[in-house]
Amino acid sequence: MTGSHIDTVRTGGRFDGNLGVLAGLEVIETLERAGIVTDRPITVAFFTDEEGARFAPDMLGSLVHVGGMALEAALDVRAADDGARLGDELARIGYAGPAPCPAAAFPHAFVELHIEQGPVLEAEGTTIGVVEGVQGISWTEVDLVGRSAHAGTTPMALRRDPGLGAAEVVVGVHAITAELGGAQVGTVGRLDLVPNLVNVVPASARFTVDLRHTDEQVLQQAEERLRELLARVADRHELDARTRSLARFEPVEFDPGMVDLVERVAQRLGHTTRRMPSGAGHDAQMLARVCPTSMIFVPSIGGLSHNLAEDTAVPDLEAGANVLLHVLLERSRASA
Ligand SMILES: [Zn+2]
Repeated sequence: MTGSHIDTVRTGGRFDGNLGVLAGLEVIETLERAGIVTDRPITVAFFTDEEGARFAPDMLGSLVHVGGMALEAALDVRAADDGARLGDELARIGYAGPAPCPAAAFPHAFVELHIEQGPVLEAEGTTIGVVEGVQGISWTEVDLVGRSAHAGTTPMALRRDPGLGAAEVVVGVHAITAELGGAQVGTVGRLDLVPNLVNVVPASARFTVDLRHTDEQVLQQAEERLRELLARVADRHELDARTRSLARFEPVEFDPGMVDLVERVAQRLGHTTRRMPSGAGHDAQMLARVCPTSMIFVPSIGGLSHNLAEDTAVPDLEAGANVLLHVLLERSRASA
């Protein structure tokens, strides 16, 4: 099996996810045109809700596919923006299909072609990223509740301002990444103040914290420091802090045989390669739970992704698709 996702974020570009799906279809078309019949059938998967920006967790479609989340629980997930139910939204856009979840059978192997979404390959002038694994992801939604008050009449010392608390958490998350150093990243990507008015001290702040690391131990340390930070901020400003886990996935190591295969095929086709972890979550990490899995990265121009300007040079797209073709050909042999 190959494939990727066909959802994107609101400000996303054309390549994130779609490349892996379209390249998979291109592989099928190429084999058909060449009259090649493989020993094992090749399937192209179109996963939904890989981003998880509206319906958490991320990789939800592939997670349900491999049996990591019950279908009914997934269909009942509510949207972060308007509270719509995922099952209703899938029906509304014509995507509520009849296929069984989890799948009736899992693939012999899975390989996903994806854009790197980062700057490393372009900076090094390398064409193919051989992905060895995916870093762990921890998403937390935080509610800080204080007391709404008049912005003109309430002295500073008498405020319980969750907006101020949220700002300190934003700065604090950045400090946690600096303390842990290296590969630790942390982001507050969503922040809503209620009532969100110019002359009102907010009543509450709701925001998300995204923490990622390739090492589970370090990721747990980052989570512990976030808990301490929230307790400190809540205490300092007399706020109630409540947290909810939106997604938690441990780091994933891909199958060494599949990783070797991607590297061997890419080098045989004359491409420069580099072994690397993935900074982003991908459907492949869900498939890795049920079959030997790996990924192929191609460079992102300027390292841009989740951005309308996201782009990849045509020769790199072609290189990635050809590596995908040959990896699938090798793994579809009866003896492989
Ligand atoms: Zn993607």
